[in-house]
Amino acid sequence: MRMADISIPTDLLPADGRFGCGPSKVRSEQLDFLASLQPRVLGTSHRQAPVKDLVGSVRSGLAELFRAPEGYEVLLANGGATTFWDSAVHSLIERRSQHLAFGEFGAKFGKAAAAAPFLEAPDVRSSDAGSRSTFAPAEGIDVYAFPHNETSTGVMAPVTRVAGDAGALTVVDATSAAGGIDFDASEADVYYFSPQKNFASDGGIWFALVSPAAIERIERVTSSGRYIPETLNLAGAIENSRKNQTLNTPALAPLAMMDEQLRWINGQGGLAWAAARTAESSNVLYDWAERTAVATPFVADPAHRSQVVVTIDFNDSVDASAISAALRANGIVDTEPYRKLGRNQLRIATFTAIEPDDVRALTGAIDYVLERLG
Ligand SMILES: *Cc1c(COP(=O)(O)O)cnc(C)c1O
Repeated sequence: MRMADISIPTDLLPADGRFGCGPSKVRSEQLDFLASLQPRVLGTSHRQAPVKDLVGSVRSGLAELFRAPEGYEVLLANGGATTFWDSAVHSLIERRSQHLAFGEFGAKFGKAAAAAPFLEAPDVRSSDAGSRSTFAPAEGIDVYAFPHNETSTGVMAPVTRVAGDAGALTVVDATSAAGGIDFDASEADVYYFSPQKNFASDGGIWFALVSPAAIERIERVTSSGRYIPETLNLAGAIENSRKNQTLNTPALAPLAMMDEQLRWINGQGGLAWAAARTAESSNVLYDWAERTAVATPFVADPAHRSQVVVTIDFNDSVDASAISAALRANGIVDTEPYRKLGRNQLRIATFTAIEPDDVRALTGAIDYVLERLG
């Protein structure tokens, strides 16, 4: 049967068909909250109380979610995680960084550091896709950087402080992990992310939970005389964030959606609740892949398997792109693998907003498609 002809019965379909790894499923309650800001907040000055209060609510919601240790602060600025890499290159790395690159996103931060003429060449520690590399603490490294969750491959790493030189910072790309995986914030100096993954919001902004040591470092590096573009100057981000502002005009809709998602997660039981939910959803998929003859979890070591991004390989008898195309034709979208990975694979987000029951329905829908592709 051609995949275009496969019509999945309605009772097998998930209630919501969005399984993308970012942008990802947005909950209707978030849009209701956004609509409630008309006309009191939307279309009003970002330098006045209504918008600043919204920014303040997001910042305190994040501090609560992460159980921010004494002295840690929540920063934000326009741009997204990709912009944060450039900001970190200019305003955080003093001389030399070490990076774990076990996928595209970890590698990209390493490349940004390598391109900076004012830094020493970074030490980028790579491993094959689906596995995980490790740090080799060394003298002269002042930033150790790694992704909490590598979205391109579905590998996660524990957040633990790297024991290097005194004052060396542990810097974590939490873009697809934050709000979906539990961790101890005191184990990181910088925990940064974009909001379009577990926070079910829109992109274009970055947030970071930073330690007192990171703040001290930012203040030192940005006053050292190095040229730093104003949009990448993290000292400016500290100053503006403390006033619940951004350097230039922020988009309000992502902040509103983020604020509502934080209220929801914190109200349900915080990070422990969110992590239990994503673990449940991802286990549904890993168990399905283990018991399905044509499928295998891509990440071989169960301890490295992500609870928020599940990657499943298919054997040669099945064309995974035909599965994702058939799912897409039935309203189940964005199960395609990360484009540069180039594997015969499905990649499925199990972010906090996604209902575990919808993930169960998804496995039934895939079974239905598999039977008919055969
Ligand atoms: C999505 C993602 C990014 C990039 O985020 P942008 O908002 O597009 O800049 C960076 N790192 C990780 C781990 C991601 O999942």
